[in-house]
Amino acid sequence: MSRAWNFSAGPAALPEDVLRRAQQELLEWNGARASVMEVSHRGKAFMDLAARAEADLRELLAVPRNYKVLFLQGGATQHFAQIPMNLAADGQRADYVVTGHWGEKALGEAALYARPHLAASAKTDGYASIPERATWDLDPDAAYVHITTNETIHGVEMRDIPEVGEVPLVADMSSDILSHPLDVSKFGLIYAGAQKNIGPSGLVVMIVRDDLLERRPRPLPRIFRYADHAAADSMLNTPNTWGWYLAGLTFDWLKAQGGLLEMERRNRAKADALYAAIDGSGGYYRNRVQPAARSRMNVIFNLHDAALEPRLVAEAERAGLLALKGHRALGGIRASIYNAMPMEGVRALCGYMAEFARSHG
Ligand SMILES: *Cc1c(COP(=O)(O)O)cnc(C)c1O
Repeated sequence: MSRAWNFSAGPAALPEDVLRRAQQELLEWNGARASVMEVSHRGKAFMDLAARAEADLRELLAVPRNYKVLFLQGGATQHFAQIPMNLAADGQRADYVVTGHWGEKALGEAALYARPHLAASAKTDGYASIPERATWDLDPDAAYVHITTNETIHGVEMRDIPEVGEVPLVADMSSDILSHPLDVSKFGLIYAGAQKNIGPSGLVVMIVRDDLLERRPRPLPRIFRYADHAAADSMLNTPNTWGWYLAGLTFDWLKAQGGLLEMERRNRAKADALYAAIDGSGGYYRNRVQPAARSRMNVIFNLHDAALEPRLVAEAERAGLLALKGHRALGGIRASIYNAMPMEGVRALCGYMAEFARSHG
């Protein structure tokens, strides 16, 4: 058996170099005579690892000094609920721009602690576009504006960071963080579940501006308060040490690849190749997302005949191309091509698609 090209949307492929390094040092990490999972998070060795991972992430994203970087648990879904708890006063309006499935979920979790307002939505066109910024109904007194920069299921990406005035911009970047350089200063808070572009599931990376940590809209258990996590350097309780370690290896790998400009170049080339294979198939394959909104991370498409889709997925598995089945909410095909997917894997997929079209005309 050998490793196949893995197009899973998440948990997703990790860079092979990262897995090899983790394998090499699994039994004995860093002279500890134990694995990294088996040592105290408060010991010097792990504290050094943690600080280095944070420093590398700060360097990759050029995170300004007035932002904290947190390594949290719970997945993006937990933070859909926790963000309104931390940032909005009871009944205070919070604006949500919904461009797909995850934005809907985030909005749905906000009503217990805020008054979520649907500021814009692309639902009427089946989430195939990003609503024009000029049409967004934003309130200057809102607690924050929430966006999902890449909709992992609907395959749409917000390429330009919107201007929203003085209201803090909060972004779920679970599936596109680290895929290109980013101007962090345009955001109040960025959060991302790790299992797409950072590491294993169970870890959430958050980048949050200092002034937002000073908001205290209500009493909260400490474990739910971001300010308490920040004050404790994300070690309020035992963190996900294994996830933090693997995230650190991924940051290291990203730096060695040439950083986020290089990742952006590669991701653009990969997405261009795959969309060209779809658009050039004479209608055999179809993607209905507006070209300017097409995701570079999650490429979704349908076949001209939906009955062929399960065959494409099953035969692809046998050909060494894994997890192409679309999300159950949408059906169709989805190829997730995060940072860890090399061009070679995308070429293999394009070749397979051309061959499938020939043999199942
Ligand atoms: C995967 C994903 C989520 C959900 O992440 P969990 O870790 O399962 O809670 C939320 N938002 C986006 C954009 C995602 O891609």
